[in-house]
Amino acid sequence: MSAYSPKDSSILIIDDDINLIRLMSQMLKDFGRILFATNGEMGLHIAQEQKPDLILLDVEMAPMDGYEVCRRLKSDEATSASAIIFVTAKVGMESEIACLDAGAVDFICKPLNPLVVQARVRTHLRLQQNTAALESLAQHDSLSGLYNRRYFNMAIEAEYRRLQRHQLPLGLAMVDIDHFKKYNDTYGHIAGDGAICAVAKALEHATKRPGEVVARYGGEEFVVLLPQVDAEILSQYGQMICDKVQALELPHATSDTSAWLSISVGLALVIPNSQSLPEDLIKQADQALYLAKQNGRNQYHLLR
Ligand SMILES: [Mg+2]
Repeated sequence: MSAYSPKDSSILIIDDDINLIRLMSQMLKDFGRILFATNGEMGLHIAQEQKPDLILLDVEMAPMDGYEVCRRLKSDEATSASAIIFVTAKVGMESEIACLDAGAVDFICKPLNPLVVQARVRTHLRLQQNTAALESLAQHDSLSGLYNRRYFNMAIEAEYRRLQRHQLPLGLAMVDIDHFKKYNDTYGHIAGDGAICAVAKALEHATKRPGEVVARYGGEEFVVLLPQVDAEILSQYGQMICDKVQALELPHATSDTSAWLSISVGLALVIPNSQSLPEDLIKQADQALYLAKQNGRNQYHLLR
């Protein structure tokens, strides 16, 4: 988890009073990048484009007031992650409740006190960053640093349906380290963990196209999601990752396959349709992996 670094943050100020925007920008100049908008419509647009960590939102604006802007920010997936602090001239419990009900994390009363503004912003930027770090932890495998199986399952579901809509192919590689149990028995579990990390890094380096996802599927198994590939590109990829792992030259004295650590790769390719499921593609890659093992390991096998 990275240390709190306010300079990486971005803050959007939405207020119809340009003098207040100037004042707040001055107060928050050490907190990161400051963006601003002088009405709700412009604010929504900038929030969608820039995805700020935090939004300071004036309640009293026309034609769209702050409550309406807040509702729209919260109901749009592109902007719902930004934390919102209301800035309001209305004091009192009713106004406070209205702010929090609308989905804001906090509110600040006018006239603005610089120390209050800075303290509230600091707190919520920190909370935002902690939330982002927790989300990242929940999506990654702690040993290899790759995405975990849980994230992969979400990614394949989304990619499968997206490519179904466009009638484009989706490729999947299922990767297994050859004779891994023997490797552990020979070199110990710490070396085994090291081998998993080395293979993970090799896969990550070899997988660079946009939309491709490398994940640890479990134990010594990895999966790679390869959108919009054909059989030739997929086969080349399969061969390349086998070569990359061999090139690590990790000695495996008890392997029947090679002097170095090797992998077997099952490749599957489909154009998703409404009758098929992501699970079918996974099963197909698993079957291809079985055949790659049967054929002597340290190789890929493609099924489509
Ligand atoms: Mg105003």
